[in-house]
Amino acid sequence: MKIAIVGAGVAGLTAAKDLIKAGHTVTVYEAAPQAGGLASGFRDERWEWPLERFYHHLFETDTAICELVDEIGFSNRLNFLNQVTAQWWKGRSYVVNGGFPQFPGLVATALSVLTFKALPLHERFRMGAVSAYIKYGVRDWRPLEQITATEWTRRWAGEKVYNVLFRPLLEGKFGPHADEVNMSWLWARFKARSFKLGYFDGGFQGFVDALVAYIERKGTKIHLQTPITALDQLPEGGWRITAGTLDSEEVDAVIVTGSPTVLGKLVPQLPTDYLGNLKQLRSMGAVVMTVALKQQLTDHLYWVNMPKDEFPFLALVEHTNIIDSAHYGGDHLVYCGDYLDASHEYFQLTQDELLERFLPALKKVNPNFDPSWIRKTWLHRETYAQPIVPINHSRNIPPLATPLPGLFWASMSQVYPWDRGTNFAVELGRDVAKEAVQYATTVGVRESASMEPTLVS
Ligand SMILES: Cc1cc2nc3c(=O)[nH]c(=O)nc-3n(C[C@H](O)[C@H](O)[C@H](O)COP(=O)(O)OP(=O)(O)OC[C@H]3O[C@@H](n4cnc5c(N)ncnc54)[C@H](O)[C@@H]3O)c2cc1C
Repeated sequence: MKIAIVGAGVAGLTAAKDLIKAGHTVTVYEAAPQAGGLASGFRDERWEWPLERFYHHLFETDTAICELVDEIGFSNRLNFLNQVTAQWWKGRSYVVNGGFPQFPGLVATALSVLTFKALPLHERFRMGAVSAYIKYGVRDWRPLEQITATEWTRRWAGEKVYNVLFRPLLEGKFGPHADEVNMSWLWARFKARSFKLGYFDGGFQGFVDALVAYIERKGTKIHLQTPITALDQLPEGGWRITAGTLDSEEVDAVIVTGSPTVLGKLVPQLPTDYLGNLKQLRSMGAVVMTVALKQQLTDHLYWVNMPKDEFPFLALVEHTNIIDSAHYGGDHLVYCGDYLDASHEYFQLTQDELLERFLPALKKVNPNFDPSWIRKTWLHRETYAQPIVPINHSRNIPPLATPLPGLFWASMSQVYPWDRGTNFAVELGRDVAKEAVQYATTVGVRESASMEPTLVS
């Protein structure tokens, strides 16, 4: 079959790889000037490596992407590194993870919990017991999707632990929707986290470029800067792809990656109830400012969760506290990131206006910080960054095959109960490729069956 893929993010590229392997002819269309989607990078002229527009790392539990990295011969470029995560609470940061790298995982976690001075000792035991129960005690996430994470953690971890640890996490990620998120999302976050974090030599863009080179060598054509503007079903079966800059093309099947809005706009002829369901899949956007500093901001912290009532952003990520700043011409790279509704004013403010808002926070984190430390800043915004997962979300997720024959949709909104991430984009790509192969087999069987009488007569 001839198959078109809309989107050269990790899901689209993975699907392309598996489909070529299964013998199909694949063309990928990408709106952006580079492949990689949300995991793509940007580069300053001083840097050796590109940097992700939005902070990125892998967990040791991310087996699907590790297998893919192996398959394309890139595993010698993936390293798992020690890191320190902290929680800001009443004027200072407290290490929650990674503070004891000399000890094995469970001992290190126990020590982190016991020394987490943001809580009184008896509350630390409670936090440890509840965290261990979520991570190791619960096997089936399904009952957990019937209760909100807020309700569950307040009930079992208590008000204090909820306020210090869980509330900032939920409010930071989901803002005004924090109390709607179901507990299976939090369960999955605990389950899929590891002590060490993975990062590629050359960044995630380095990995994406290797994947692109691999599938191009196998014969896939990737059109960059080619936004698809319409997908039309052909009366005789198959689809017509329209892109502004290219002649329209006819294919047997199409896989659309990207948001529910992208799918709805490209295929308005989808059944009304299906389109209505797409509209109910809500998500948060992300606003991330990258600041290149002449000096280190925190002494060793990779990630600091910030309470929303004290800080103008959710996460402060000092990338060069795990990756050598020598790869970035000596720049110390700090991300200030937040998840917000697309209507939030951060999507309208200019880069300078946002920097003005963020500067006092940098000073709060390090009182010695001075704006003269800043060499350069970059601002990246994305309206589709984090799906919101309410109670019983599994019932809302559309299957990968849409109601229209030969049209498939694979997006972050279908990743569940796991939190979206490149590992799950790989799984998604694989799953949608399997469905498309299955479709090709069925269509093939149907076509050869309909040819038989003709041949006999
Ligand atoms: C702030 C932030 C932090 C993150 N941190 C991590 C992390 O630490 N680790 C991790 O693993 N993951 C992380 N992720 C998530 C990860 O980036 C995504 O889960 C993953 O990249 C999604 O891949 P995808 O292919 O499904 O979608 P996307 O990357 O969104 O790809 C979809 C592609 O489709 C293209 N497209 C859309 N419309 C059209 C059109 N009409 N025509 C042509 N092309 C089109 C888009 O340009 C895009 O390239 C993070 C995401 C964000 C926003």
